[in-house]
Amino acid sequence: MAGLFDEPTISFVQVAVERAVDRYPKGLTYGVPQSLSPIHVGQLITVPLGKGNTPTEAWVLSVSETPPTLAGNKEIKQVFSKNALTISLPEDLVSLASWMSSYYCAAIGPTLSTMLPGPVRKGIGIKTRTLVNLVMCPPNDVKLTKKQQYVLDTLAELPTNDRPIGISKLMKLASLGSRGPIDRLSEHGFLSTHQVTNVEAAWFKQNIDTKEMPTLTDDQSRIVDAISKKLGEGYSSHLLYGVTGSGKTEIYMQLIDHAIKDGGKAIVHVPEISLPQQTAARLMERFPDKKVAILHSALTKSQRHQQWAMVASGEADIVLGARSAIFAPVPIDALNIIIVDEEHDHSYKQDLTPRYHGRDVAIRRASTAKCPILLGSATPSMESWWNATRRNISTLHTLTHRAPGLTLPKVEIVNMRIARAAAHGVMPVFSRELELEIQRSLANEGQILLLLNRRGFAPWIVCSSRACDWMMRCEHCETSMVYHRRKPLEEVGFVRCHHCAKEQRVPKICPDCTKPVIRLGVGTQRLEAIIRETIPLPSNQIARLDTDTTRKISDLHDTLDRFTRGEIRVLLGTQMIAKGLDVEGVTLVGVIDADTAIDLPDFRASERTFQLVSQVCGRCGRGSREAKAIVQTYNPQAPAIVLASEGKYEEFANRELQLRQETGLPPTSRMVRFVVRDDEFERTAGRADALYERLLSIASPSIQITPAAPCVLTRIADRFRFDVTASATTAGELQQFLEDARQKKYIENNRDLAIDVDPVSML
Ligand code: ADP
Ligand code: ZN
Ligand code: ZN
Repeated sequence: MAGLFDEPTISFVQVAVERAVDRYPKGLTYGVPQSLSPIHVGQLITVPLGKGNTPTEAWVLSVSETPPTLAGNKEIKQVFSKNALTISLPEDLVSLASWMSSYYCAAIGPTLSTMLPGPVRKGIGIKTRTLVNLVMCPPNDVKLTKKQQYVLDTLAELPTNDRPIGISKLMKLASLGSRGPIDRLSEHGFLSTHQVTNVEAAWFKQNIDTKEMPTLTDDQSRIVDAISKKLGEGYSSHLLYGVTGSGKTEIYMQLIDHAIKDGGKAIVHVPEISLPQQTAARLMERFPDKKVAILHSALTKSQRHQQWAMVASGEADIVLGARSAIFAPVPIDALNIIIVDEEHDHSYKQDLTPRYHGRDVAIRRASTAKCPILLGSATPSMESWWNATRRNISTLHTLTHRAPGLTLPKVEIVNMRIARAAAHGVMPVFSRELELEIQRSLANEGQILLLLNRRGFAPWIVCSSRACDWMMRCEHCETSMVYHRRKPLEEVGFVRCHHCAKEQRVPKICPDCTKPVIRLGVGTQRLEAIIRETIPLPSNQIARLDTDTTRKISDLHDTLDRFTRGEIRVLLGTQMIAKGLDVEGVTLVGVIDADTAIDLPDFRASERTFQLVSQVCGRCGRGSREAKAIVQTYNPQAPAIVLASEGKYEEFANRELQLRQETGLPPTSRMVRFVVRDDEFERTAGRADALYERLLSIASPSIQITPAAPCVLTRIADRFRFDVTASATTAGELQQFLEDARQKKYIENNRDLAIDVDPVSML
């Protein structure tokens, strides 16, 4: 390796290795040779790592002029190179990553990498253009054609600022039919050529009819006034609790209008599944002369790069996107407001490391940008409700009425125990009540939404013999196999595990007793089959939405658009249909089974059920016509279902918080969940017990630790799972505990241990 570092070092950088695990929390130091100077914070560079000096990508965390004091007189190696595309993250995002890395116990290198979209990183969509200019000393022994001379004259007449110039532009100015004359001139040395690479700006444009802002109701104006007063006054946090259709989006629009005056920027978050494009269209209509950048997964790779670059250059006034848009490189000084719509949505939490919550990272970002953050929802998360009503660290704003012209849906709970008795013990899919309402809606030309939060045709394959309790399970997971048909109306099918995605053939007979097997239960695919067989509508007027029908996110948007235009009369599906649809024609919402979440062994089961039922019922009553929602349940007395159907969020939330407080559960405490994973059951259990003992040994009295226990999903993809949780009254205490555990090397986020701070799922 002699000669590797033979240039003098002129400054120093601290870097985080991109793919490293948690080994170097504070970063590694390298020297910067003259030829690579300057290097900036947030840049991606290549450094030699380890004994073999393996070239490794790393992020620059800080830069210093003076050498650090290293233990043991270690030699400081030099940076190999800068990333060819010299992409860098702004400094405030580097500090945000440091915070995330420590708060969520994730290594900083991978956390920084999460922030930069793959296409930006890989330079996808960068175009190279050739520009030409006149040279100082042109050759004098070459005879020029008329056209060539005209090109030179044209160039000479251009103001110097306009040179160098793109070839196609020059062709136009010199009225050339081909670029031949320009190429000849460069070959003979009359023109110099320059290559420039950049991402070309490409703003999404809709057919925009400018829309005036509607006159706000008094309630809306009061809220807009209260929050807009806080613009420019530093950080403040606001929760907008407004029933579905109460005009929350109108409030966002008005606040954005205030915030982006005089060059300010706004970030708006929406859940991935909802309609980023529709919201984008609404924003573009409202702000026709402003630039809206969109960041979500339906874009092509080069579009994602373009949108990111437009944000980074400060051109975009409004950034709209799903979870990862919180890392949009909006210039921090210009950032004036952050809005998180549907803040209760679980898709804001990332379930892979770094396991961050987009809403909480957004709060952190607002506090460093010193701007207001507004969280909005018809069913706020218990966390946000707690913060606004008990901790008073966030201001509550309430919209109790629907917007003018909208009616609240009538919601009816149907007790399926009675329906089952009437059907002589068979569990019917539709109650008599729902059947009648479907017929009535169809007769009145209304549109219908049917929610069933279970995919596939039949969720269970079991033995037909009452004496046998065989059920088909996944060979790799502790779960039942789900039966899927190739097409809803064709008998050909297969079984699939929803956790590891392995597929198998359907057995004809029970392997235990050789009796025939039966397919039990109803998933969305079977629901679709039943509807297609019983409802006399043309086939293109019925559609299903779930992850099986929306492999591409554009399929989802396409179906939702067709429903919005009224082309689809009956739309059925999983919780995907519960979000964000604002369609006037909906006269009936049917919840086929409100109990899919209620029995889950997760302390948020009730909250989720409440959210789902309220959100889906809120999809109707958006027009002037009378609308109804029918909620089928075997738990007609469950508070989550009763209160959701009565639209009593506050009562539910206060009751739920009371229960959480009595049991010491979040949000009244702060929790971290450790999931130990291993290939053998005994070893997993042993490791989890050992982890519990170690954590216990360093826990102060304010930390509660639950002993190791098998997770609800005991095995996924051949990996056994055990969990241990730790809770504290405050985030600070919990963070201190995590820091101690990391220092002692008791915990490290890796393949065998998932550390989940503020977990949203306990399965
Ligand atoms: P939310 O976001 O709370 O579900 P929206 O902002 O989408 O509600 O409003 C629901 C509907 O009511 C939209 O079609 C919207 O244009 C309309 N709307 C909202 N506020 C007003 C108002 N002040 N006057 C008239 N219509 C309104
Ligand atoms: Zn499986
Ligand atoms: Zn059997």
